[in-house]
Amino acid sequence: MDNPEQGAILRVMTYDTDILIVGGGLNGPALALALAQAGHKVTVIDALAETVRKDAAFDGRGYALALGSQRLLQAIGVWGRVAGNAQPMLEIKVTDGHAGSGPSPFFIHFDHAEIEEGPMGFMVEDRHLRRAFLDAMADAPGITQVSGQKVVAQAVDPGGVSVTLDDGGILTGRLLIGSDGRASGTAMRAGIKRTGWDYGQTGLVCAISHEKPHHGIAHQFFMPPGPLAILPLTGNRCSIVWSERTETAAKINALDDEAYLQVLRPRFGDFLGDIALDGKRFAYPLNLTIANSFVAAEWR
Ligand SMILES: Cc1cc2nc3c(=O)[nH]c(=O)nc-3n(C[C@H](O)[C@H](O)[C@H](O)COP(=O)(O)OP(=O)(O)OC[C@H]3O[C@@H](n4cnc5c(N)ncnc54)[C@H](O)[C@@H]3O)c2cc1C
Repeated sequence: MDNPEQGAILRVMTYDTDILIVGGGLNGPALALALAQAGHKVTVIDALAETVRKDAAFDGRGYALALGSQRLLQAIGVWGRVAGNAQPMLEIKVTDGHAGSGPSPFFIHFDHAEIEEGPMGFMVEDRHLRRAFLDAMADAPGITQVSGQKVVAQAVDPGGVSVTLDDGGILTGRLLIGSDGRASGTAMRAGIKRTGWDYGQTGLVCAISHEKPHHGIAHQFFMPPGPLAILPLTGNRCSIVWSERTETAAKINALDDEAYLQVLRPRFGDFLGDIALDGKRFAYPLNLTIANSFVAAEWR
């Protein structure tokens, strides 16, 4: 080594891992698996215990995965773990409508037969996807999971980064990635600001079972207060994302299950026969939030 000072710096730079990822929801694990496949050592830290993240009744979400996302899951070895719980989306019908008269008979129609690449996408319930990610990470040799520990601080030095956990432990790496959700503390601590606004709408979310088969068709009805999405799940079930103005949504959400269905039925129409709730109901305020930058070279 020509320069003794450089030698000293290199000697102290040993890290617990190559890449620290804060957040083991969806994006964190997907990136961790891809990075591990490329030969990197990755540590994924999540504030929630693994049992909570694997809870079958986690939060009612179902994802419409486009073909590109499905291919990504296949490439990182996750698709085989969720394929049995994935409902192919064969057609998408978009129309407008009014409560009481149901959807208009005129609609825009997308059919998978026209793209000759198989289904247009897949519906996968959040609970199946999260479990598949956790299992895939457990089987990946390059990935260490730290669960039930919150990251409370982070620091950068000339060659790497460190994070402090809520039990006082410190982990070091060469790169820090924040995939800790829409209120990302990692981004905030790195000085990354966000732009966004409230839509004044709330998404009422639930799964329903119905009499007639959905034939893999996804429907989106644009109603005056907001869209109603009816997305096919496995079996005779659909995921409902029903957007209403926030005040109206609060009133609907306060109803008991039968009264809630009575408000939904006239918006829904009768094309799937009678409908019933399948599991719990959820309400999510709808807003836009996007980071102004995806990279912070350094922070103080
Ligand atoms: C009803 C509903 C339907 C949706 N449908 C779709 C859809 O069809 N398609 C789609 O693409 N998206 C959909 N979304 C959005 C989707 O859920 C989010 O985009 C996705 O969850 C973001 O993933 P993520 O990994 O970035 O964050 P999250 O899934 O929010 O995970 C963040 C993780 O970070 C952890 N964490 C946070 N802070 C810390 C900390 N300080 N230390 C350690 N861990 C921490 C949390 O415990 C959590 O596990 C939907 C959302 C809702 C509510």
